[in-house]
Amino acid sequence: MARIVMKFGGTSMAGIERIRGVAARVKAEVERGNEVAVVVSAMAGETDRLVGFCREAAPLADPCEYDVVVASGEQVTAGLLAIALQSLGLKARSWLGWQLPVHTSAAHGSARIEDIDTVAALAAMAGGMVVVMPGFQGVDAAGRITTLGRGGSDTSAVALAAALKADRCDIYTDVDGVYTTDPRIVPRARKLDRITYEEMLELASVGAKVLQTRSVELAMKEKVRVQVLSSFSDVPGTMVVDEDEIVEQELIAGVAYNRNEAKVTVIGVPDRPGVVAAIFGPLAEANVNVDMIVQNIAHTTRKTDVTFTVPRTELVLSLDVLARIRGDIGYEEVLSDDAVAKISVVGVGMRSHAGVAVTMFKALADRGINIQAITTSEIKVSVLIAEEYTELAVRVLHTAYGLDAAA
Ligand code: ADP
Ligand code: ASP
Ligand code: MG
Repeated sequence: MARIVMKFGGTSMAGIERIRGVAARVKAEVERGNEVAVVVSAMAGETDRLVGFCREAAPLADPCEYDVVVASGEQVTAGLLAIALQSLGLKARSWLGWQLPVHTSAAHGSARIEDIDTVAALAAMAGGMVVVMPGFQGVDAAGRITTLGRGGSDTSAVALAAALKADRCDIYTDVDGVYTTDPRIVPRARKLDRITYEEMLELASVGAKVLQTRSVELAMKEKVRVQVLSSFSDVPGTMVVDEDEIVEQELIAGVAYNRNEAKVTVIGVPDRPGVVAAIFGPLAEANVNVDMIVQNIAHTTRKTDVTFTVPRTELVLSLDVLARIRGDIGYEEVLSDDAVAKISVVGVGMRSHAGVAVTMFKALADRGINIQAITTSEIKVSVLIAEEYTELAVRVLHTAYGLDAAA
């Protein structure tokens, strides 16, 4: 007998027919003699709808009340799945985040799970009951409902698997595994049988939304065995594993894109020590997450330009901060562009191979795609380009690194 956490995403939970399909999958797992806890997302599109209501009610809605509203999508699907399981003759019950409880920090809208109380869930599973838990939600020390940030049900599932010491955490979604890139934009993307935690973490953090970044971080830290597979077919999925479990490592695991960033250029910044800190200090204080940074060296004018990217949702705030500090810094002007995309290639093979970045630069140049900024890490190279070339760039790089599936 194994203890398994099964997580079902929004598309898998969209409507009663699909929820019945999910219940049948859960039943099959129970009939194999396993103890099962299920984590569910809201129906596809529901969280967007709820976020829209909050914005309409007040553009800067109270974050505590925002969480009360947006957490409700998962309450509905958790209850519906418990009903569907019961009608298949299984013992099942839902526990909301505050009932289990799932303790989180008080950072409303992006709370972190601190601890999950598993007493009730373990007792229920020992008695042959299926435990159903809504993803994405928890409760803070003040007893208020919190949510974990978009895509957070993956993290709820991994955290529950860690707390229950589950043998596996199966993430059921609308694709049948982790691919070399988003299969919706590159039809020749290839499914990976295995991917390392490290590569999955980098890919998630640069835009591959198949798993939420925090869920991979947590799985790596807590050594949770995560598998990504389809809710709609029975083909084998992708296992996230340690590096030593992969015999033949490919140079590049995948290509990802992110259209959620905006570029800011501060022009004519006096070239003196401390000036960069004077720009990024106030941005950090305003909780703006700066990503790529490029600074030119001033040769003759004693002035330089500083270019960086911020999340698109934080562009207005960033421009506001820069306007406020203009007098202290003495820059000439600020330009911004939100029609940009960040394209990244990720692979642990980069550690031992030179020339990975050059392949990327050449492939983009051959298509006339201009690179506006570059960042690298040990296992990743990212470039910033005009948003209109996103799909073309991803396809071209996928081919350039030899990732295309055979035609
Ligand atoms: P869920 O609602 O099940 O959580 P998501 O929409 O969050 O599903 O994540 C699944 C989606 O991730 C897929 O439909 C696919 O378009 C996208 N995706 C992006 N990059 C990848 C990748 N490398 N492999 C698989 N899917 C990817
Ligand atoms: N329903 C939430 C969202 O759409 C959480 C999730 O599905 O993972 O972001
Ligand atoms: Mg998701």
